[in-house]
Amino acid sequence: MKETKSTCPYCGVGCGVVIQSEGGQITGVRGDPDHPANFGRLCTKGSTLHLTASAEVTRQTRLLHPMLRERRDEKPLRVDWHVALEVAADRFAQTIRAHGPDSVGFYISGQLLTEDYYVFNKLAKGLIGTNNVDTNSRLCMSSAVAGYKLTLGADAPPSCYDDVNHAGCIFIVGSNTAFAHPILFRRIEDAKAARPDLKVIFCDPRRTDTAELADLYLPVQPGTDVMLFHGLLHIMLWEGWTKPDYIANHTSGFEALKAVVRDCTPDLVAQTCGIRKEDLFTAAQWFATSPATLSLYCQGLNQSSSGTAKNAALVNLHLATAQIGRAGAGPFSLTGQPNAMGGREVGGLANLLSAHRDLADPRHRAEVAALWGVPAVPEKPGKTAVEMFQAAADGEIKALWIACTNPAQSMPDQKVVRRALERAEFVVVQEAFATTSTCDYADLLLPATTWGEKEGTVTNSERRISRVRAAVPAPGSTRHDWDIVVDFGRRLEKRLPPRAASLFPYTTPEAIWREHRESTRGRDLDITGLSYALLEQSPQQWPFPAGATEGRARLYADGVFPTPDGKARFAAVTYQPLAEPRESRYPFSLTTGRLRDQWHGMSRTGTLGRLFGHVPEPVVQMHPQDLARRGLKEGELVHVTSKRGSIVLPAQASTELGPSQAFIAMHWGSEYLGGLSSTGEPLAGVNAITTSAYCPTSKQPELKHAAVKILKAELP
Ligand code: SF4
Repeated sequence: MKETKSTCPYCGVGCGVVIQSEGGQITGVRGDPDHPANFGRLCTKGSTLHLTASAEVTRQTRLLHPMLRERRDEKPLRVDWHVALEVAADRFAQTIRAHGPDSVGFYISGQLLTEDYYVFNKLAKGLIGTNNVDTNSRLCMSSAVAGYKLTLGADAPPSCYDDVNHAGCIFIVGSNTAFAHPILFRRIEDAKAARPDLKVIFCDPRRTDTAELADLYLPVQPGTDVMLFHGLLHIMLWEGWTKPDYIANHTSGFEALKAVVRDCTPDLVAQTCGIRKEDLFTAAQWFATSPATLSLYCQGLNQSSSGTAKNAALVNLHLATAQIGRAGAGPFSLTGQPNAMGGREVGGLANLLSAHRDLADPRHRAEVAALWGVPAVPEKPGKTAVEMFQAAADGEIKALWIACTNPAQSMPDQKVVRRALERAEFVVVQEAFATTSTCDYADLLLPATTWGEKEGTVTNSERRISRVRAAVPAPGSTRHDWDIVVDFGRRLEKRLPPRAASLFPYTTPEAIWREHRESTRGRDLDITGLSYALLEQSPQQWPFPAGATEGRARLYADGVFPTPDGKARFAAVTYQPLAEPRESRYPFSLTTGRLRDQWHGMSRTGTLGRLFGHVPEPVVQMHPQDLARRGLKEGELVHVTSKRGSIVLPAQASTELGPSQAFIAMHWGSEYLGGLSSTGEPLAGVNAITTSAYCPTSKQPELKHAAVKILKAELP
């Protein structure tokens, strides 16, 4: 038996795994005892990874050969790689020549490795000359990026997992950590067991399993987080719990923020947020006066039309109380995907450039152009996720390349997304799994390798870069994502104006990573002291500049921030209501979220029967009183209807929710539901009814809230 160290591909905790293999087959997996993210532990998803890579599952679910269809009414037929990539290069070159570089778009994924992300970014922004490259990480953490940059000056989470062991107060907000980041949650459980005086505050509209650990639960009404954070600051100011010295020496803009929070009185905040006044005071006191307070937050803040404001308002609290830059203290955003952070590092979003550079900054564009050896990086901002599919639906984007993600399930407001995929003249889907709904729309399917088969790096929530390693050979004629992009890029170069040298000289992922490393020189995420060889020995946090012997666990210990004056900036953001508040015709607040044992669109976890033991089927959860008031029984089918569409699901009573709230898990898509309801409506996933309204700064859509009505489905 061979053992290969790698990283779990599921979530941003980034646990180390040891893959066991025999005869070219993955046979087992165990937690890597040496990995600092998990010290040998794995959750139910991670510990069953090997079963998702069995020969039988591979045969049934994987895309193993390139497939091409000449016409939309035909089934795709198997072709070889040369034909597939020549057709792709022809179609993209024709589209660019006829309609310009912005007529094509790339929609990629936080599941890709950093090296894959890097070459996609270079392909779009360096070779083609469009910034139309965005990622499903836009749905995951772009509000956290914008919040950090607005306040701290850089997209750099200042904390690390070890802070859980040093915090006196942990403020978990908008995160079901127990389900979404299980191994981190176990650390919190351990810390609480070892130190009963550790205070845990949990703030979320749903009383999820994470609440079990909380000393104080704040059942905030959906969308009111900014009001809550401002209210806490109002109390801290009133009670003298802020730190004037820290504010004076290390921050700017406090007077403007004070003017905003002055009106956020405890009465108003308690009423708006649906929280008892005494609980507000307790939370403010614990947060401000604890020796060290750590905030952990995720999609509840990010997936919001006020996502940036929510993030910034929480960072404000840390700055006002000097709860930052020390062991156990800081605002710590959790990333949902395994490599959302790596994508940020290489600038794999429509508004960013390599090494945390900003597309809007002419100096940054010139630096990246010089690094790549291209005349210029285009100035025009690219289309972000929602904008890209809207542009394709409008006929503006004519060729779409989708890699390692399933927008026909995961994007909000599915009608627009599906119209986009139908209207685009050429759709390439680069995927490991043949089972996603998006594959149905592909003119060209390109089979990619996946976990256990590919090499590269990922970065987890605490800025820790880990190696991903191949344990077994690639099945069928699958190829690595970076290799597909590089081959396509070289073919496209031959069809575009001639260049002195190829932009894609790489023959290994390490060569790509070295170029990425060079791009970070002198930047906040400088990793010029790292190498693949060092990462083989141990995963490391950035920054890790040349000469360093280890990465930096915590940032801003010196109180100096990466802003022009070295001071962190208070953001005087204001509370804005939800994009689509509930009203008399749509009286329920629908929220979406994760289950414990499923991952994203279930491409991988959906292959294992045992992972359906926890939650076997999709349901809509409602408060028991709401069921009773509507004369509904558990298990009865209901229509859940928003302004965008309707889906049919069995109803389930849940006391996790407050009255007038509803919850549907995000994982189930039409490929799992299939068919028609008893009333003849297509059974579709929750994104048939979610809204694509987004935060104006981060462009992250409000997947956490839609106004819906819920009515009993009439049987024929
Ligand atoms: Fe994988 Fe996340 Fe579970 Fe760790 S916590 S084993 S990274 S799914």
